[in-house]
Amino acid sequence: MYYQYKKQFQQSLVEWFQKEKRDLPWRKTKDPYKIWVSEVMLQQTRVDTVIPYYNRFMEEFPTPEILAEAPEEKLLKQWEGLGYYSRARNLQAGVREVVETYNGKVPDNRPEISKLKGVGPYTAGAILSIAYNRAEHAVDGNVMRVLSRVLLIDADIAVPKNKRIFENAVMELIDTEHPSEFNQGLMELGALVCTPTSPKCLLCPVREFCTAFNEGNPEELPVKSKKVKTKNLHYDVFVVQNKKGQFLLEKRPEKGLLANMWQFPMFEQKSNIQHTNESLLSTAFQVELINREKLLSFKHVFSHLVWHMDSYRLIVEQIGNAPENSDWFTIDQMKELPMPVPMLKIWEHYKKEN
Ligand code: SF4
Repeated sequence: MYYQYKKQFQQSLVEWFQKEKRDLPWRKTKDPYKIWVSEVMLQQTRVDTVIPYYNRFMEEFPTPEILAEAPEEKLLKQWEGLGYYSRARNLQAGVREVVETYNGKVPDNRPEISKLKGVGPYTAGAILSIAYNRAEHAVDGNVMRVLSRVLLIDADIAVPKNKRIFENAVMELIDTEHPSEFNQGLMELGALVCTPTSPKCLLCPVREFCTAFNEGNPEELPVKSKKVKTKNLHYDVFVVQNKKGQFLLEKRPEKGLLANMWQFPMFEQKSNIQHTNESLLSTAFQVELINREKLLSFKHVFSHLVWHMDSYRLIVEQIGNAPENSDWFTIDQMKELPMPVPMLKIWEHYKKEN
């Protein structure tokens, strides 16, 4: 596309968005806090999955002040199942800065908003354009795909520094009168029409400006080099029950994957160890094994990591206190604890069987 067609491109995209946009709960508001929450939830997560989480989250934490004051455990409980839990913690840290430094008002300019914890260039641009109608770029995977095709950009989108090329392109093309709808139009087009495989070019509102369509090769773009290799880890997971009917849970470390969430004790399966994982459990958690039963085996996929889980139900006798960061809980108490999806899967299976 040549930049002299910019006006027509903008108009086609914005009009299409106004007519065809999906009816989503965060599109009913211009509140920058709510837009922020929705954008954080939508990172790495499908729209259909996010909708009920967003609605519940807004009922629980309707204002920045309420979220800022919420205990982390309550926040993680609301986020339970969405994954990438550091997003939730960063969101809360950023919102606390807004409450403390900006009197509860989300900054309306890029330099200030970008300093908030967890707010990267995309989220900053999305909040500024959607909530404040500022002509700012908001480039995610969808936008890069659409622009790589429209403008025939063959830079590798897996290379972080190439994002700048797309940000510059948006700043060149953006409709300064309708920046909110322009940016959302690009995102929506990428989600609904200009899809990774089989883009629906015949239904596309910007087809006549699209270089890849005119050259007949949309599916060859964007260029994206292969992802890093996935790591596979094998674990034994133990649903441990004492004679009082309580269950043993441990809290994950403060940093890293699934930080601060609660899980059933799990041990990596290693072929070269002398002790079984049950005996490691007995020593670490001061229990004596009475009975053992196999539950389910499955794999859980993270972005660059796969957990292969073999789970067991163990009935035990307690011979000492649980170590630091672990404890015995009743079923009712467990309902209040944030647990990662693979643990919930084991727990649901256990409850069905028992
Ligand atoms: Fe994407 Fe096809 Fe539209 Fe071009 S014409 S933007 S390739 S859907």
